[in-house]
Amino acid sequence: MRLILLGPPGAGKGTQAKLLMKKYNIPQISTGDILRRAVQDDNDLGRKAKTSMDAGSLVPDETVIGLIRERIREADCARGFILDGFPRTEVQAEKLDEMLRELELTIDAVLDFSVDAEELVLRLTGRRTCRECGAMFHVDGRPPKRSGVCDHCDGALYQRPDDNQATITKRMEVYEKETAPLKKYYSQQGNLKTLEGAGDTEQIFSRVCQLVSS
Ligand code: AMP
Repeated sequence: MRLILLGPPGAGKGTQAKLLMKKYNIPQISTGDILRRAVQDDNDLGRKAKTSMDAGSLVPDETVIGLIRERIREADCARGFILDGFPRTEVQAEKLDEMLRELELTIDAVLDFSVDAEELVLRLTGRRTCRECGAMFHVDGRPPKRSGVCDHCDGALYQRPDDNQATITKRMEVYEKETAPLKKYYSQQGNLKTLEGAGDTEQIFSRVCQLVSS
C-alpha cells in the first residue's frame, strides 16, 4: 500500500503515519525527519537545509525530490510506504508522479487531514518529540508519564526549534500558498480522501483506517 499524508503542520500526519506503519508494516517516509537527522549530523544536506527549516520555509524542491527518489527504491519500500510531508509543492507532486510511473507504481490514497487553525497552533506549541524513537507527546493533551522522558524508550524529549509562534505562522502561510493547492491536484486524479483531524489519536486512526480500506 502506498499512501500520501497531506495536511498543515500539526495536523497529526506524523502520529498517524507511525500507527499506519505498525498496522501495515510499511515504512513512514518523513522528509522533515530525514532533514532534521541531517541537521543533527551536520552533514552537507543538513547544512543546506537548516536555514530554510529554521525560517519555516521550504527546502528547495530538487533537494527533497532527490531524497525521495533514492528512498522509495530501497528494499523496505517494496511492499509500500507512507509519505509524510512530501510532496509539498506542485513541482514535487509532478516529479513524484514521474518517479512512480518509471517504477510502474501508483498511489492508493492521499489522506488530507483537516484541522482548525487555532487547534494547530496549540498542538504545535505544546508538542514534544523523543530524540531517540520519534514518539510524540503534548504537554497538556498527551503528557509523558515523566516530564521530559519518552514513555516508550526513556529517550529525551525535545521541542522542535521551528515549533515557536513566529515560525509556525510562517509555516502556515507556506502551507496555504504552496501545499494546499495539492488538494485540487489529487482530487483531479481521483484519490483525495479528506478526514476530520480533530479528536483523540485513536479516534482519528479509526477514521484513517476506514478511509484506507474503503
Ligand atoms: P515537517 O517535519 O514535515 O514539519 O518539516 C519540517 C521542515 O522541513 C519544513 O518546514 C521544511 O523546511 C522542511 N521540509 C520537510 N519536508 C519538505 C518538503 N517536502 N519540501 C520542502 N521542505 C520540506
